[in-house]
Order: sequence, then C-alpha cells, then structure tokens
Amino acid sequence: MLVSLAMTDIPVIESEKFRIVAEEVVKCPICGNKSMTVKVFLYDMPFFGKVVLESGKCSKCGFRWSDVGLLETTKPKRIIVRVKKPKDLNTLIVKAAPATVRIPELGIEIFPGPAAPGYITTVEGVLQRVIDHAPSGCLDKSNPCYEKIKAIKEAMDGNISFTLIIEDPSGRSAVKGEGTEVIEEELEDSQE
Ligand SMILES: [Zn+2]
Repeated sequence: MLVSLAMTDIPVIESEKFRIVAEEVVKCPICGNKSMTVKVFLYDMPFFGKVVLESGKCSKCGFRWSDVGLLETTKPKRIIVRVKKPKDLNTLIVKAAPATVRIPELGIEIFPGPAAPGYITTVEGVLQRVIDHAPSGCLDKSNPCYEKIKAIKEAMDGNISFTLIIEDPSGRSAVKGEGTEVIEEELEDSQE
C-alpha cells in the first residue's frame, strides 16, 4: 500500500480493490536514461469508478513520478468548480498529469511540464500544494507574492469565493463534490 499512499494526498482505504495491470521501463523525463520503472495500478474508487494510478521511479537519478486519471477517457474537457462555501473546499479532485489548473481570483496557474505529476486531492489540497511550492521569498512581506500567499490562506479558511478550473486535453481528470457547483464542458482548443 505504500506505493499508492505516496501517490495521493488522501489515504487509500485498505480494503479497496486494486491490482497491478502493467509494469514497464521508460525514459526518465529528468535524466533522459531509459531507467524509470513505471507500475500501473487499476483501482475501483468510490465516487469515481475505475481509476488508473501510475507510479514511476528512476533507478539512475531517483526521480519519482506519479499520475492518476479515469480509466475511461473522454474528449478534452474543462471542469469549472465554483468554491463559494467552506464545504466546497472538500470537493475531491482527480487531476491527471496533462491537466492545467487555474484559479483566476487568486492569480494561480499551474501548467503541466514533461515531469508534471497527476494526483488526487481536494480543492484545499490544491491550494496547499501552491503554498508548498511557493518560493521562500514569499515569506518576505516586501515581496509581491507575500500578499498572494496571504490570499490563498484566506481562501483555505473559506473567506474568499473563487473558481477552480481544470483544463485537461486527455479528458481523464474528474471532480466530485457534494452540493458544489461543477460545470463540465468540452475543451475546444486542445494543444494535442
Ligand atoms: Zn532519471
């Protein structure tokens, strides 16, 4: 279970059905050697159905990578989540590796690079990831990004309404929330 725990921000329930469906050695996006072993797991998850988890580790440089997405792919899609009340922060997010995440009200744009991971988290978890990856200069009050981090923390406390937008050319991302306003639409201009 350690593998799956490392790939998601939420604990995977022990009794949940899963199995390894494939294992292959691919090129590492960091060092370029064909030394990254990727294991592919198939999970049956509550709310989402069949979900594919991939976990890779490079034996040369130690780079770790993971991805997650729905087994059944759809057309390129945009998912818009309206976060208006504290409970909306608990909305579950499956963010596949090729997906871009935007929160216009908070000035957040997370673009997928070649080594970008996919993950399962909550809306709050997405905000926490932004804080975790913020440059250390953001702790300095004279730095413009200090105010940005402050606003993100306000949002995590439920004091700011905002919109979380996921644009996924692979169509494997998904969102599930109880009573949260979620709009799904086709993504017209995919980069693929
Ligand atoms: Zn490597």
